[in-house]
Amino acid sequence: MAEKVLMGKEIIARNEAMFSFDDRSMYFGDGIYEVVRIYGGHPYQMEMHMQRLQRSAEEMDIPFSTEDKQTLSASLNELKNENHLQEGILYVQVSRGAAERNHLYERHEEPVVFAFTKEMPRPLDQLQSGIAVYLTEDERWLRCDIKSVNLLGNVLAKRKAADHDCQEAVLHRGNEVTEGSSSNLFIVKDNELQTHPATNLILNGITRQVVLEYAEQLGKSVRYDPIDIEDLAGADEAFITSTTNEVTPITEFRGTKHVQLKVGEITKQLQERFEDDVKKTESGT
Ligand code: PMP
Repeated sequence: MAEKVLMGKEIIARNEAMFSFDDRSMYFGDGIYEVVRIYGGHPYQMEMHMQRLQRSAEEMDIPFSTEDKQTLSASLNELKNENHLQEGILYVQVSRGAAERNHLYERHEEPVVFAFTKEMPRPLDQLQSGIAVYLTEDERWLRCDIKSVNLLGNVLAKRKAADHDCQEAVLHRGNEVTEGSSSNLFIVKDNELQTHPATNLILNGITRQVVLEYAEQLGKSVRYDPIDIEDLAGADEAFITSTTNEVTPITEFRGTKHVQLKVGEITKQLQERFEDDVKKTESGT
């Protein structure tokens, strides 16, 4: 059976999907997106993702009402069911719309919404043994809190990391570490977690927010300060969080600094909590 996609409000076969030549997301990266994880056929934290999409739309001056949000989440569920997706992701994008190329946008364009699903197993090996990450300068714009499809700084950093046999790039502005190219960063030092505060310089990850809740449940204190690159060497543990990478331990930093680490106990405790959430999602509770 042909794979289905969502185009606007319609679910259609992927090979029938058509885009305008003049879509602003192609010319300007003028659009926003979300990636939602599916465990055992059930979406994980759909509402949080939809809320963040609505916030990104507001910040980008793209019309997206609470009613649009509800319609979209129902359509995404339908798409996931039509494609019989068990383990994978839902990708959804909202572009400002199509209009003859002009930097100046008007406010009458109709946003273009589309979504697809993709099967994706959980990264179980990496969750256990950890990853190497590549430290490199953060060259992105100053509204990283918006989940926009304009991801040039992110994709160039990711390529650089891969070219150094690393699974993720970790970005820093001068001495201050911000986040990963597609993840948030945490370190643990003397039983305390540290992560960048949710400012304009990072995307406030859904997994980051979930992990912060676990930390509170576990009675761990959290320091919301940019991590100084010099402090990585003294960290007891480090990990990244994201929808697809969950809570992934970092065993090595390369690039600007070289640091080796072991998979730590607090990281493991947070992973256990996450595992409980996955099980609950899988069972539909
Ligand atoms: N930061 C950036 C730059 C990202 O692209 C992502 C992944 N979308 C994250 C953080 C993690 O966010 P989430 O936990 O919502 O996937």
